[in-house]
Amino acid sequence: MKIIDLLKSPKVCVSCELFPPKKGSELEHAQEIVRTIAIQGVDYMSVTYGAGGTAVGKSVALVSEIERCGVPALAHLTCVGADEGKIEGVLDQLKDAHVENVLALRGDLPQGQDHPLGDYAHASDLVKKIKSYGDFCVGGATYPEGHPEAAGLDEDLEHTKMKVEAGCDFLVTQMFFDNSMFYNFMYRLLAKGIQVPVVAGIMPVTNLKQIEKIFTLSGTPVPAPLRAMAERFADHPAALKQAGMAYAIGQIVDLIANGFTNIHIYTMNKPEIIGGIRSNLSEIIRC
Ligand code: FAD
Repeated sequence: MKIIDLLKSPKVCVSCELFPPKKGSELEHAQEIVRTIAIQGVDYMSVTYGAGGTAVGKSVALVSEIERCGVPALAHLTCVGADEGKIEGVLDQLKDAHVENVLALRGDLPQGQDHPLGDYAHASDLVKKIKSYGDFCVGGATYPEGHPEAAGLDEDLEHTKMKVEAGCDFLVTQMFFDNSMFYNFMYRLLAKGIQVPVVAGIMPVTNLKQIEKIFTLSGTPVPAPLRAMAERFADHPAALKQAGMAYAIGQIVDLIANGFTNIHIYTMNKPEIIGGIRSNLSEIIRC
């Protein structure tokens, strides 16, 4: 099933993200997580792609398992450092696994590198390639704060527009913790003429280290209430998990109330998180 059909429907669409295991021996456990989430119920699941194509076999094994469970899979694919043959090889594997949806990404540049590497300089080049190679529904990333390499949000939005013009069917946002910032971003996106569905990325924060990492890696600002919450419950993991989920649920209810019905949850391979969030939203999802 093509994800764009879910995103264009007025119904609430809740998806979640998984990452492939680092060690081969953990693959069976990751596949078990997929099966658990499929039983709990989710509209689609995405699987990340290791920087530079590391663990590609495990990413493909996980998206295959998702499809086997009868849930649409969204395979992330990065192009940094990749040549055409490698990209076509992965797309062939996805076709064989009946995966119809790909999130086209450039990937982070290796440290010290400041210009693109490989046959595809930008995600928009990868979008064009995927669209010409098969009948895939293609998504792209977008950044409510602007991508860290861009001179500013306006420049970054020009590049996002190029991604959409290249054939991107939908966009998924970097995680954010302040909905008002997302609403401002949506106005700017619309003002640029970008009209494809936008999926809001929500990360339930469940430990203090995660907050520090998010800020360092993505530059996403952490609002004071979230930081206070993480610090207050830092030594009480179960309480922090509950508080982090409650914060995420608050964001999701506000998004749905304001008409943004496509929500992607960064679950960090924890089925209890997506299960807990979905059960808290059961009536909201239905109306
Ligand atoms: P691009 O869209 O190519 O943008 C990268 C930078 O280049 C931006 O600053 C942009 O403004 C600029 N740019 C774009 N086009 C042009 C142009 N034509 N000329 C000049 N500048 C241009 N990483 C992984 O390794 N694996 C994953 O699975 C993964 N999943 C992700 C999922 C989501 C939802 C998000 C938001 C990010 C994900 N990332 C993942 C991280 C992502 O790979 C990095 O943020 C990366 O640095 C940028 O990728 P992009 O696809 O946004 O690149």
